[in-house]
Amino acid sequence: MTVNGGISFWYAGTGIPLPREPLAGSRDADVVIVGGGYTGLWTAYYLKSAAPELRVTVLEARFCGYGASGRNGGWLYNGVAGRDRYAALHGREAAVALQRAMNDTVTEVIEVAGREGIDADIHRGGVLEVAYSPAQLARLRAYHEAEVAFGERERVLLSAAEAAGRVRVAGTVGGTWTPHGARVQPAKLVRGLAAAVERLGVSVHESTPVTEIRPGHAVTPYGTVRAPYVLRCTEGFTASLKGQRRTWLPMNSSMIVTEPLPPEVWATIGWEGAETLGDMAHAYMYAQRTADGRIALGGRGAPYRFGSRTDNDGGTSAATVAALRAILVRFFPATAGVAVDHAWSGVLGVPRDWCAGVHLDRATGLGWAGGYVGSGVATSNLAARTLRDLVRLDAGQGRPTELTALPWVGHRVRRWEPEPLRWAGVHGLYAAYRAADRRERRGHSARTDVVARYADRIAGRH
Ligand SMILES: Cc1cc2nc3c(=O)[nH]c(=O)nc-3n(C[C@H](O)[C@H](O)[C@H](O)COP(=O)(O)OP(=O)(O)OC[C@H]3O[C@@H](n4cnc5c(N)ncnc54)[C@H](O)[C@@H]3O)c2cc1C
Repeated sequence: MTVNGGISFWYAGTGIPLPREPLAGSRDADVVIVGGGYTGLWTAYYLKSAAPELRVTVLEARFCGYGASGRNGGWLYNGVAGRDRYAALHGREAAVALQRAMNDTVTEVIEVAGREGIDADIHRGGVLEVAYSPAQLARLRAYHEAEVAFGERERVLLSAAEAAGRVRVAGTVGGTWTPHGARVQPAKLVRGLAAAVERLGVSVHESTPVTEIRPGHAVTPYGTVRAPYVLRCTEGFTASLKGQRRTWLPMNSSMIVTEPLPPEVWATIGWEGAETLGDMAHAYMYAQRTADGRIALGGRGAPYRFGSRTDNDGGTSAATVAALRAILVRFFPATAGVAVDHAWSGVLGVPRDWCAGVHLDRATGLGWAGGYVGSGVATSNLAARTLRDLVRLDAGQGRPTELTALPWVGHRVRRWEPEPLRWAGVHGLYAAYRAADRRERRGHSARTDVVARYADRIAGRH
C-alpha cells in the first residue's frame, strides 16, 4: 500500500509534529517573520545570532516544515534560479559573485547543522546529472561548460562508463558531476533548525496564519504583531496572501519513495557515493539514495492548480504516482518489482521571469525572499543571510556587505497573467516539455527539440 499525502514521507519516522503554541494576543517585536520554512527560520537564526537583543517572532500557519522545506528532494546544492538572467542584467562578474556565494552556501549549511547538532542525514556526495539521449547529451555538455565558466573548476564531465560507474542509470550516454552538493533529509533539517532558533530565544508560533501583511503589521486571527520589519517568507504559498495572488506562481512538484531496496537490487544500481541524481530532460527528475537505503524520486506531476490553489497536505494523483514510478523503472529496471511506500507533493514559488530574489523596502520595512523555482534548499540560506544584512544595514547596525551587493537584491519582476491564462499557459508549457522529452528520447538529433525551445521562450526562461 502506498501512503498518499500525509505531508511527506520525511515525517513517516517521527510522525507529524505537534504544533507549538499559537500567538496569544497582540504584541511588539523588532522583526516579524511570516512562514516557518527554511527561509523564515534561517533568517530568524542569522538575525538573532548577529544581534541577540533583537526581539524576533516567527508566525507559521501550520507547523515549521509544513511547506516545501519538509517535503523536498533533499538536494542541498549550489544551483540558483536566474543566474544567467542576472549576468545579462548586471554583468558577468555580478553573476559569478552570486554563484560563488551559492557554492559556499552548501558548506555553510553543513557546518551550521554540525554546530547546532542537527542530524539531517547529511552526506556530501556531490551532484550527478546524466543524459540518455543525444539532445540531452548536447544540453549536458553545454550546461557543464557554462558551470565551469561560472567558476566551478571542480566540476567534471563523465563518459557513459564513468557516469555508470557512479550510478547505473539505464541508457546513460554521459554525465556531469560537481562536489557542490549534498543529500539531506529535509524534514530533519527544518525541524532541527526550528529547535535551534528557539534555543536562541526567537518566539516561534505555529497554527498562526497571517491574514494580512502591511507596513509595521502582521495580522493574525489571534492578534497583530507590530514590528518595524515584516518579512514575508511564504514561497509557494504567497498567492494566498492578500494582494499577492499573481506575485509567484505556486508550482507543484511530486515525489515517490520506494521501500528499502534489498542488497541485490543495490548491487545492480551502485550509487555507493549517495550523490543526488538528476537528468537533463525538460520535465526533469531528481532523486536521492536515502540514509535507510530507499530511492526517493521526484518530478513535475500536475504542474499547477487553477486559481493558484496550493495544497491538500501533499495528496498526489494516481496518474502522477504512475508517471514517477515509470521513470524509476526506466532508470533502474531492477526496481520493477519493488513497492512504492509513499507519494506526496508540495508547492514551490515561481516568479514570472524564473529568477529568485531578495528584497527589503527601506520605506516600509517590508521584505521578502524566495521565488527559488525548485532550488531553495541551499538558496534559502543565502537569501536569509542577505535579509539579515539588509535589515541590519537599514537599522543602522551594519554596513553594506558582499551579500547586499549581490545582483538578486531588489530585483523586480512583473506579475503573472490572470486566470484562465495562467492555468492554460502552465499546463500548455509542461505538455510541450513532455512531448519534447518523448521526441528527444526517440530521435537521434543532438538539437534540443523545437517545441521545447519555443516553450522556453514563451515561458520567459530564456
Ligand atoms: C516536492 C518538492 C521537491 C523539491 N526538491 C528540492 C530539492 O531537492 N532541492 C532544492 O534546492 N529545492 C527543492 N525544492 C524547493 C525547496 O524545497 C523550496 O524552495 C524551499 O523549501 C522553500 O523554503 P521556504 O521556507 O521559502 O518555503 P516553505 O518551506 O514552503 O515555507 C513556507 C511556510 O510558510 C507557511 N505559510 C504560508 N502561508 C502563511 C501565512 N499566511 N501565515 C503564516 N505562515 C504561512 C507555510 O505553512 C510554510 O511552512 C523542492 C520543492 C518541492 C515542493
